[in-house]
Amino acid sequence: MNVADSQRVASALERLGYLGTRRADEADVIVLNTCVVRQSAEDKAVGRLSSLRPLKLKNPNLVINLMGCLVGVRGYEPLQKRFPYVDVFSPPSDPGPLVAHLTQNDSRLLEESETQQRFALMDGELVLPEKERGRLVATYVPAVLGCSHACAFCIIPYRRGVERSRPVGDILAEAQSLVEQGVKEITLLGQIVDRYGRDIPDGPNLAGLLRSVNDIEGLERIRFLTSHPNWMTDELLTAVAELPKVMPHIEVPVQAGSDKVLADMKRGYTAGDYRKLVAKIRDYLPAGSIATDIIVGFPGESSSEFQATSDLLAELKLDVAHLARYSPRPGTVSERRLDDDVTDGEKWHRFRLLEELQENIAGEINSQLMGQTVEVLFEERVRERWRGRTPTNKLVFVETNQDLRGVTKYVQITWTGPWSMQGALRDQLLSDQLISLAASQD
Ligand code: SF4
Repeated sequence: MNVADSQRVASALERLGYLGTRRADEADVIVLNTCVVRQSAEDKAVGRLSSLRPLKLKNPNLVINLMGCLVGVRGYEPLQKRFPYVDVFSPPSDPGPLVAHLTQNDSRLLEESETQQRFALMDGELVLPEKERGRLVATYVPAVLGCSHACAFCIIPYRRGVERSRPVGDILAEAQSLVEQGVKEITLLGQIVDRYGRDIPDGPNLAGLLRSVNDIEGLERIRFLTSHPNWMTDELLTAVAELPKVMPHIEVPVQAGSDKVLADMKRGYTAGDYRKLVAKIRDYLPAGSIATDIIVGFPGESSSEFQATSDLLAELKLDVAHLARYSPRPGTVSERRLDDDVTDGEKWHRFRLLEELQENIAGEINSQLMGQTVEVLFEERVRERWRGRTPTNKLVFVETNQDLRGVTKYVQITWTGPWSMQGALRDQLLSDQLISLAASQD
């Protein structure tokens, strides 16, 4: 979500006439877009912000904009006192305060009325920053902002505010404009993206939105994340299975495998519910992939409760598990009411156990692709290799001198590891695979 928000700010600044630079010491405006989902992310943001102070002392005309979850949606007076050298504070997803500050204070800019006109003309569209125009292959489009679920550990509802679905027309206009600028793959974003539209009377739900986005000419792939298990409906899975551009990859966090821990986390489902959901997803998408999130060391998580998470992961054999160690976030239910009683050392121990388990699972799943031919949409060249992803979101690298940016090619897999694969370009599918594809379509 922050990547999408930063793209929005860069686009707004370019419309005002600013250009991007990689050097902070030559910038007129510095935007620090922050994440506070874990304490380590917040510490990093604060450290970076402190490092900007000498630049402001050297150049008082420098505009520093602090944006994102560190600012939040509930007022920023304490931050103003703590960081007096920050000129503008912006809540997540909102370039408005920065644009307003610059149009009022930078005499080099267009007249305010002219600027407003320029912004109004662009409503619903997103003009990519110049460095990305015609080069960016895959990008994000926010569909749901904020979250109203309030999991016990999570700070996001406090910082990003209540759930708000964007109007379908805005999403489609933005997606269309991105495709016109060369984008081939769009990921629709939401903290609980599968709740899309529930706050819009008579509006489409996520299945309906996917159907509309699927109709955009020139767009090749659509993804969505992150889903909550309770909102993953049959209608949605039917849409994913039917729509050719929607990729068969589902990101649906479980967070823990113990019912007691899940209840303490206030997630709203049991491990049994999650098992059933995974079975259902696999029924709808037999060739699909599933990613999950897990937090280890939640307050009160005993060894046997951790073991339940480990057992669930071993049993379900999911393609990806994003792992995190619990860290109490000020103001959340778990921070206020529960004792952070699993030691740091034990959290690390549990984290590494799951990391090793998942490495083996992912390695085994990916090894089944050895020698197979897969479709890869290539995004960028990293050193000597082109990097792309399969429909199931697996990373594939190919060594070639061809320019593959934005091109979908068949690749025969020649090496597999848990986190990525390598392959060689193939002009077409091998004949036995054409036969097996035909059989699976029957
Ligand atoms: S669903 Fe839970 S974890 Fe996800 S953003 Fe909302 S409160 Fe946070």
